[in-house]
Amino acid sequence: MEQRKRNTFGKFSRSKSADKNRVVQITFKWLNDGRKLEDSPQVGLRNDHGNYVYEYLDVGAEAELEGDNTSDVSKSWTIERRIVEWNILSEGMYCCTCKCPLHLSDIVGERLFGLGGLLMVDCKLCHTVTDVHFGKRGPSGSYDINTKASIGMIHAGMGPTHLQNFLAECNLPSITESTLRKKEKELSGQIKNVTIQSCNMAQREEKSLSTNGNIEASFDGGWQKRGSSWNYNSNTGHATFIGKETGKVLSFDLRSKTCKICEFHQNKKETVPEHECHLNWHGSSKSMEADMAVATAHRLKDDECEINVIHADNDASTTARLEVEFGNIQKKDDQNHVKKGLSTSLYNISKSYKELQKDETKQYILRCFMYAIKGGDNEDDIKIGLQRIVPHIFGSHENCKDADWCSYHQNPEKFMYKSLPNGKPLKSEGLKVELNNLVTKMIGRSNSLNDLGSTQSNESFNQLVSVKAPKSRHYGGSCSLQNRLSAAVLQKMKDMATYPR
Ligand SMILES: [Zn+2]
Ligand SMILES: [Zn+2]
Ligand SMILES: [Zn+2]
Repeated sequence: MEQRKRNTFGKFSRSKSADKNRVVQITFKWLNDGRKLEDSPQVGLRNDHGNYVYEYLDVGAEAELEGDNTSDVSKSWTIERRIVEWNILSEGMYCCTCKCPLHLSDIVGERLFGLGGLLMVDCKLCHTVTDVHFGKRGPSGSYDINTKASIGMIHAGMGPTHLQNFLAECNLPSITESTLRKKEKELSGQIKNVTIQSCNMAQREEKSLSTNGNIEASFDGGWQKRGSSWNYNSNTGHATFIGKETGKVLSFDLRSKTCKICEFHQNKKETVPEHECHLNWHGSSKSMEADMAVATAHRLKDDECEINVIHADNDASTTARLEVEFGNIQKKDDQNHVKKGLSTSLYNISKSYKELQKDETKQYILRCFMYAIKGGDNEDDIKIGLQRIVPHIFGSHENCKDADWCSYHQNPEKFMYKSLPNGKPLKSEGLKVELNNLVTKMIGRSNSLNDLGSTQSNESFNQLVSVKAPKSRHYGGSCSLQNRLSAAVLQKMKDMATYPR
């Protein structure tokens, strides 16, 4: 076979002049299954059998015709690609009998085990056939590449079918689904241990960075099924505590209402054999979060990393349970959740009051609330800010004098509300009462509204989980979800180490 020229960067030359020097060689991107089959047994589909073939065009296959090519198409090693560890291959390329070097051109057979395998090479001198492995093997004799492929699958958020499709397109050998699942199961213990160790390291780091040993962490849960706070019906859920200083996952937990192994045997009406069961939740999906919060917080306490201040959303049941178990835990509301809560309240009020029906109006009132909450330096500031909202939108601006967001006092005669209907103040007395009730409710919480926490890092973590275990696919009920959650934790650790806060 003629050696292709490389340019100064080590890339194969693609220049026209170089091609001209090769007499019968043509580079082309189309499949000539019908037309040039006689003189090109190795082209296109026969060479790269992917799924994306359209009108003789084999997308991505750039086959080169060699005039003197006489290889047999049926020999899979001559047409497919292999993942080869050169070091292993070169060490093995010696005859097992006469110790003479072997040649790759003398391959007479091949045995594949997933992505790994061995070549059978004939010795030119003594004609003994030697088995040459082209990949590293573990103590059990299994090829490392298959395990690595399984890890890669978890890390990339793919399932066995995706990996198989990927391999097929690359024209690499395939790994069966059962092998991939077996490997994943074998790995799950190790992945879990590594993840727990890495969490323990994050705990120590968070502790050393905290002020006066007061550990602040944000808590939030996620579900493997799409759903807002009104729609929890997922079979699986996870939750994390993320350190305020490090941004790393201090601890995490997982709840599953199903176990695939249990289900399999129950469907066949058999007794379920002993197995590592993934079913660990019998309650409602909604109550998972509170349970995970308590369990995780206890585990952190046992690890001598007790959380003193928690940033969490407004889910009352979670906070209530944490307060029962940990009397002196302090809670900071999450800004976004406060906003969401207010938005919901306004929406509910708007159902009974016409004046509030326009989205613009609701948005404006929500903004007024958020100004008051964010603008206050202390609890009293927030109270004063909240108290002037209702008078302001109902047309009395006595309290607005030192509020820079209200322009009434700059020019009282020409003052208009940009976002209220017709630029006029609201009138409905009933609405005024409702809004005042909302203000009173918020004032009652002004303590926790001061210095709001953030669960943003938990939300971005949940995003990461949804990449590793997409909600559209069901990985729950098996070790796969645990592995994918662990993979997300490890990724978060790595991300925070690369881009610290
Ligand atoms: Zn030999
Ligand atoms: Zn089970
Ligand atoms: Zn005003």
